[in-house]
Amino acid sequence: MKKLALHWQILIGMVLGVVVGILFTYFDGGKEIVQDWIKPFGKIFINSLKLIAVPLILASLIKGVSDLKDISKLSAMGGRTIGIYIITTVIAVSIGLLLVNVIKPGNSISEKTRHELVDNYGESTTKYKEQAAIQKQSGPLQALVDIVPDNIFGAATDNKNMLQVIFFAILFGIGLILIPEEKATPVKKFFDGFNEVILKIIDLIMLAAPYGVFALLAALVVESPSVDLFKALIWYAFTVLLGLLLMITFYNLIVWAVTKKTPSFFLKGISPAQLLAFSTSSSAATLPVTMERVTEHLGVDEEVSSFVLPIGATINMDGTSLYQAVAAVFIAQAFGMDLTLGTQLGIIVTATLASIGSAAVPGAGMVMLVIVLAQAGIPEAGLALIFAIDRPLDMCRTTVNVTGDATVSMLVAKSIGKLGKPKVKDWDDNYPKK
Ligand code: ASP
Repeated sequence: MKKLALHWQILIGMVLGVVVGILFTYFDGGKEIVQDWIKPFGKIFINSLKLIAVPLILASLIKGVSDLKDISKLSAMGGRTIGIYIITTVIAVSIGLLLVNVIKPGNSISEKTRHELVDNYGESTTKYKEQAAIQKQSGPLQALVDIVPDNIFGAATDNKNMLQVIFFAILFGIGLILIPEEKATPVKKFFDGFNEVILKIIDLIMLAAPYGVFALLAALVVESPSVDLFKALIWYAFTVLLGLLLMITFYNLIVWAVTKKTPSFFLKGISPAQLLAFSTSSSAATLPVTMERVTEHLGVDEEVSSFVLPIGATINMDGTSLYQAVAAVFIAQAFGMDLTLGTQLGIIVTATLASIGSAAVPGAGMVMLVIVLAQAGIPEAGLALIFAIDRPLDMCRTTVNVTGDATVSMLVAKSIGKLGKPKVKDWDDNYPKK
């Protein structure tokens, strides 16, 4: 019998997770059963994905950079990557601002609801504000300083330091290009083999993906706040979701226009990564799968994907920046503030920078939102307004973040002649590969 394609398996896992989650909320002790007996499997799944993120970046980036054989190629690719990343982010923020100004979701929040939300969630947001305060204290060049680790083992022990690992891997790759061929070859061969092993491990982990997302979603459903609160935020959520949908459409169109690959090809190739991004709310945890899909199913050469995607997972967050713009203006509207054009233009800049600074983990976008709010003079207490619905929106914006990275990798690959035929065809999309 033909095996069901991976994205269908994951989707079924997700739906079953939601159904089981809902069922268990209906009887006493159901929530605890899910937390004790189902949730841990979700955690194990995410842990195993995170586990291979650092070795994957090291192996694939060192291999990718050293394969370039020429440093000028690296700087051309680097410039293009960063340039396109910034352009897509600014487009995302602008779409968010346009929508929130037209739909005006904040005006639908009554004074009473606003007080209720602030009372309910005021305390929960303290953690976010504290984290943001630490970020704010640092000087303007701190972000640059943070990229250069003083100890590679120290950097590699914390997934939050992904940019530091990327920095080291690029440096190592450059070193390999510059030394004599006969010295470089054995080292390259080692990382080549190492990389293959990691890719195989991803295949193995993905066998568990349908079960992993089942556990994650079941736990999420039993732990989610009451549906009543969502209703007050329905227009806000609608605005964010519409913006995210427009971004996905934009990605498909631009991939189609530039690479001539159809939306169905693109979506079929990337969908398992999108579903995983949705289930885990973390671009970093999804990175191994994004890399595998983009390379094997979308035809992007490994030289490009190994460079563009890890950087994208950490700095390119179109969904997050769009959400930050909508959330900031929504909060201002709910507090009856009128934002001038100047302030809104300021939001474009801060939301772009804030999304670059957001870590690729659940809820990071909300921490950096505090900085966007402060810059625009919007009350931080407003964070409590959007807290209840943040997780579902986080799931959606992470999906957009990952799709954006995949899009840019295709554009960059096309621009330097590195977009080829996919290694795995969709019709034999079964795991593990033979
Ligand atoms: N969860 C997002 C990501 O990992 C970041 C955020 O917007 O919170 O891409």
